[in-house]
Amino acid sequence: MAAPSALVLKCESCGKEVPHRVLRGRLAGRGEFVFEGVVKCTACGSVRNVVTREVKPIDVPLILSWMDKSTRKTIEMGPDEVITVGSDLTLEEGRARITAIESKARRVQEAKASDVTAIWAKRSDKVWVPFSVNRGNRTVSRKVLAAPDEEFYVKDIVDIGRERVLVNRIRTRQRTLQTGSAMADEIVRVYGTLVRERTSH
Ligand SMILES: [Zn+2]
Repeated sequence: MAAPSALVLKCESCGKEVPHRVLRGRLAGRGEFVFEGVVKCTACGSVRNVVTREVKPIDVPLILSWMDKSTRKTIEMGPDEVITVGSDLTLEEGRARITAIESKARRVQEAKASDVTAIWAKRSDKVWVPFSVNRGNRTVSRKVLAAPDEEFYVKDIVDIGRERVLVNRIRTRQRTLQTGSAMADEIVRVYGTLVRERTSH
């Protein structure tokens, strides 16, 4: 392991928490990173010996689902980090909401990362909004990918592929709206009428 070229530390001389240049040193340790060496404060220039310990992150197994697919991956976390069902994770793919946690072969609501055997999460940055589109002689199902907080309005026109759809009513988990709007993640189904087929460009 190579020693870092700088470390953010609190200076014993000037009291500032600033980067300290590493003059010499080495890294060691198994469960944690231990740095022993000589550092120089970038604020006041004082030089001193330090030993710092930093807990190594661990890889926690993660089953990430999005739309109809699940993928297995890992997420790096501090071993003492507390994970809670319903909270959000920030991943490369976007945000994901934790839906389940397994710790010591049990489903739990909350656990320390080091005790977790698996996390299940669902991507929460996009949701599918189901549509029923009346095409005159028949009704077809469509879906639109939207941000969870994207608003859909009754009487608005939504483009779905090459179809233009006039929204007639919106069913949410609580009620059916004949006017007004609802956010994508509370919509159960949007009912609309085909206005016209768009010609492709
Ligand atoms: Zn200093």
